[in-house]
Amino acid sequence: MAAKLLEGKPIAEELKAKIKAEVEALKAGHNRAPKLLALQMGENASSAVYVKAQKKSAESLGIEYELKTVPDSISQVEAESLIKSLNNDANITSIILQLPTPKGIDAKKLVNLISPEKDAEGMHPQNLGKILLGQYKIGPCTAMAVMELLESTKINLYGKEAVVVGHSEIVGKPLSLMLLNKFATTTVCHIATGERGILPEHVKRAEILIVAVGKAGIVKGDWVKEGAIVIDVGINKVGERIVGDIEFEGASIRASHITPVPGGVGPLTTTILMRNTVELFKSQNER
Ligand code: NAD
Repeated sequence: MAAKLLEGKPIAEELKAKIKAEVEALKAGHNRAPKLLALQMGENASSAVYVKAQKKSAESLGIEYELKTVPDSISQVEAESLIKSLNNDANITSIILQLPTPKGIDAKKLVNLISPEKDAEGMHPQNLGKILLGQYKIGPCTAMAVMELLESTKINLYGKEAVVVGHSEIVGKPLSLMLLNKFATTTVCHIATGERGILPEHVKRAEILIVAVGKAGIVKGDWVKEGAIVIDVGINKVGERIVGDIEFEGASIRASHITPVPGGVGPLTTTILMRNTVELFKSQNER
């Protein structure tokens, strides 16, 4: 394998050390710690795993963490008034709504109701708008994690050909704006690019390639440009194995850097959630 492995864990450890020191200083200055509240509606196995990881990460950094669970029989109206009351609770400095929400609940409406000042995942339209304007300190965790991985390579993105495959609101779209803010020449591919059969054409040009689709092996190894930096966001279960969206074997002999799956983007996202929480606390206390 020619490529250097871009692992998330060591970068997460470095970030955590900075966050921990910052939380200590904030506690000393404000006599209180940032507090993240996770709202979980009903029971869900995958979100239970995330919640456990969030609690562990928060506590290791000195951030207070509370899990609020409500039954899946909660109505939309009740959920909305709960979010409003959490927005008004001065002890809670950031809020994450665990997904998926129960049937009949409009999750997007709830996310939009979380105060932008307490929006731990950076998914409120106001916070997404700040990314467009290049004025952001918080952002969607996965997109921010990809930017950290790119930064760790020390490669200047200015003028680079960046190709993002996937245009979801949580990954591809915000990421493409973050890359534009760094003056990368950014192309966004999506389902229609695939349907037209021109995905290989775009991928082959990419000096920076980021794939967030959710289809195992959709990007073939021999499409990867020699020396490209390759970030695979995809998580797919194939039999008992977890694999990404890119054919790893073929891609890793061509790329200069490549993320493993698992172990690339994933380990960074919870840490970014904590950094968002700290940044929100700081801006709440700046005024
Ligand atoms: P999504 O389903 O919301 O979006 C998928 C995107 O892929 C869409 O933009 C769609 O147009 C595009 N697409 C689908 N088929 C295509 C094709 N044939 N050619 C080109 N583009 C195509 O997905 P998402 O929520 O952005 O997640 C994408 C992947 O990333 C999933 O595997 C998900 O599990 C993973 N993910 C990982 C993390 C992490 O922490 N590592 C976080 C979030 C998402």
